[in-house]
Amino acid sequence: MIRMVEHVANRQVDCAFNLLVLPPTMIFTNRYLELGEEFYQQTSPQPVAQPSLIIFNHELAKEFAGSLSTFDEHMLTQMFSGNQVHESSVPLAMAYAGHQFGHFNPQLGDGRAIYLGELTRLEGGSMDVQLKGSGRTRFSRGGDGRSALGPVLREYLLSEAMHKLGVPTTRALAAVSSGEQVWREQKIPGGVITRIASSFIRVGTFQYFAAQQDLDSLQKLADYVLECNYPEHSNGEDKYLALFKAVVTRQAQLIAKWMCLGFIHGVMNTDNMSIAGETIDYGPCAFMDYFRYDQVYSFIDKRGRYAYQEQPSIGLWNLTRLAEALLPLFNEDVDVAVEQATSILKGFAPHYDAAWLINMRSKLGLTASVNDAEDKSLVEGLLNTMAESEADFTLAFHHLSQMDASANEKDESFHGLFSNSEKIKDWLRQWRKRLELETQTDTERQAQMGAINPVYIPRNHQIEKVIRAAEDNNNFEPFHELHTVLENPFTYQQGKDTYMQPPKPGEVVVNTFCGT
Ligand code: AMP
Ligand code: MG
Repeated sequence: MIRMVEHVANRQVDCAFNLLVLPPTMIFTNRYLELGEEFYQQTSPQPVAQPSLIIFNHELAKEFAGSLSTFDEHMLTQMFSGNQVHESSVPLAMAYAGHQFGHFNPQLGDGRAIYLGELTRLEGGSMDVQLKGSGRTRFSRGGDGRSALGPVLREYLLSEAMHKLGVPTTRALAAVSSGEQVWREQKIPGGVITRIASSFIRVGTFQYFAAQQDLDSLQKLADYVLECNYPEHSNGEDKYLALFKAVVTRQAQLIAKWMCLGFIHGVMNTDNMSIAGETIDYGPCAFMDYFRYDQVYSFIDKRGRYAYQEQPSIGLWNLTRLAEALLPLFNEDVDVAVEQATSILKGFAPHYDAAWLINMRSKLGLTASVNDAEDKSLVEGLLNTMAESEADFTLAFHHLSQMDASANEKDESFHGLFSNSEKIKDWLRQWRKRLELETQTDTERQAQMGAINPVYIPRNHQIEKVIRAAEDNNNFEPFHELHTVLENPFTYQQGKDTYMQPPKPGEVVVNTFCGT
């Protein structure tokens, strides 16, 4: 029989008074533990005062073997606040380094996150589970190891919305309010989020060992990632080059998806770039309302390093840092290794461009690959016109999705987003000319475009309202309502028009903040 062990800092005390009897099938495994102590600190979550479950992702829980989805609310609350740790879990905080805004920090690590282990997926493979906001670790530096409630709700909404929008991402399994206050310029309510990922290994994890010139650990880490996330490459002769190439491809595809949805990650430090190609570490990220190429929301990004249009080149910059870390595994001869890495890095731009064009073509309802250069210029023509008018990114594509191959009154909603009416009329003429090469009917094309251009995105001002209600009034209704709308982002929902709309002048969120 498996039980929960009342959890204290050193995980030694087994408190008989608070045993939870759990079905024996829900078991964490932990291959990371076998890598050795250089890789982590074994540590436990610190209990919180009065945990209360805000939301549990039952749909996601059902994807795993075992009985997670059958736990009652008390068990879930205890487990996902960190107050109790399942007997099969050996919790740990991972070590990593990273370039933050271009500056290398050799020692970051999970300062407020704790890895619980792997859950087995019913469809094969496994996923990693982590608590965030669960207390101090060896890597906390000056921080309190905690998270405010706002960033917990924000990450839950954004990561789940990203998943529903078809973007690779860490998922949210649970959100708990801690019943404690955290100090962030003032006292605000705290929370813990449980997230699930294909991997919590970052570019910065490789940099951590490379900076210490610890080649054994570097190789162990690469073998671990190959085994867990890239098994198709784990036996080849040039497996480390194959791994690097696969990571480059996944990142190119991921960033292309962000760009096609108007998503701005906000803090693309190398410690926030997943080796598995998933969006990770939702801090000051945001979906754009009014389109600007140089849009930045993050309060700390004063120079726009991580602005919307910079994301592909920053992706490449980060991957170049990964290449530098991996060089010793590529070849003993450093010149050969550099040449190999460079040739793979050269593949980033073509991969990105191809993924972007495939995505954008779909957004415009184009299925025939006729002329890449002409289609690219058609897309750029639209984006440039949107930028001039600061048209709402999501609404522009949404309204376009409903239009017919010949001009009619349906054009009005789309037109209404643009101040430069002659220019957008001209662009529409070009688009309709291009549609003549397509075989789809209006209805078919509208269905296809509607499946890629969302009606709803997690808009900043809506998230802000959710956070205010939760933090100021302990009211989670707005959170649940927004979450429900975002579960079906491509379907128009009666009575939910306010969630489609960009902010009114008084509602605009100018800055977003890291979740610290
Ligand atoms: P992030 O901005 O969340 O990606 O965090 C960057 C680094 O700072 C990571 O090493 C985090 O673990 C650490 N960190 C962020 N917030 C806190 C906190 N409140 N307490 C301890 N460490 C933190
Ligand atoms: Mg981070």
